[in-house]
Amino acid sequence: MHKLYSLKKAKKILIATNNLGKFKELKEILPKKIKYFKPRDFNLKEPIENGKTFKANAKIKSLFAAKKTGIICISDDSGLEVDSLNKRPGIFSARWAGPSKDFNIAIKKIYNLLKKKNKLNSKARFVCAISIAFPDGKSFEYQGKVEGNISFPAKGKKGFGYDPIFVANGDSKTFAEISKKKKNKTSHRFKAFSKVKKFFKFS
Ligand code: IMP
Repeated sequence: MHKLYSLKKAKKILIATNNLGKFKELKEILPKKIKYFKPRDFNLKEPIENGKTFKANAKIKSLFAAKKTGIICISDDSGLEVDSLNKRPGIFSARWAGPSKDFNIAIKKIYNLLKKKNKLNSKARFVCAISIAFPDGKSFEYQGKVEGNISFPAKGKKGFGYDPIFVANGDSKTFAEISKKKKNKTSHRFKAFSKVKKFFKFS
């Protein structure tokens, strides 16, 4: 079954994200010989993300795009789970930043909630689900995680989103303080994509 859905000979793939940062991060991880398209290259709208898990939301996005464009599509859905907040913001990670997508707001919200519980160093993890969808409606999902702790005050200017308050296990610096290269080697996104690579025998 997997051979049928091999990406080995794929010449073009749509990366179903409108986030330029993510698009670049994903392109860096994936094989270079493939031509990558963005949703706007096909005038694609975004589907409603009403899944209850990262995998479900990734699947909604990739299947929608694959059916509309007729080419193989890859999407990801990711976020931060904070243990002392019952794994919130989780799939609501982007939404906690509000319509202006201001992550200072989301970080402040986490600070206030954790402060009330006296758990400012709560265990946390970044999770990334990847979905690969084929135009015939078949899709495959994978997930990667990176475990760590929340750390206040926010530190660092690199990365995006919640990076300034996340320290991975075994490290002392936040994801916003370490180099892009180092983050890309340890991140949830990298781990999820490594599973994709192995599965489809990318070289
Ligand atoms: P999505 O676009 O619906 O997958 O939203 C993912 C959200 O999770 C982003 O907007 C970020 O807030 C957060 N997130 C995911 N991955 C990372 C990361 O590597 N660093 C920081 N925040 C992240």
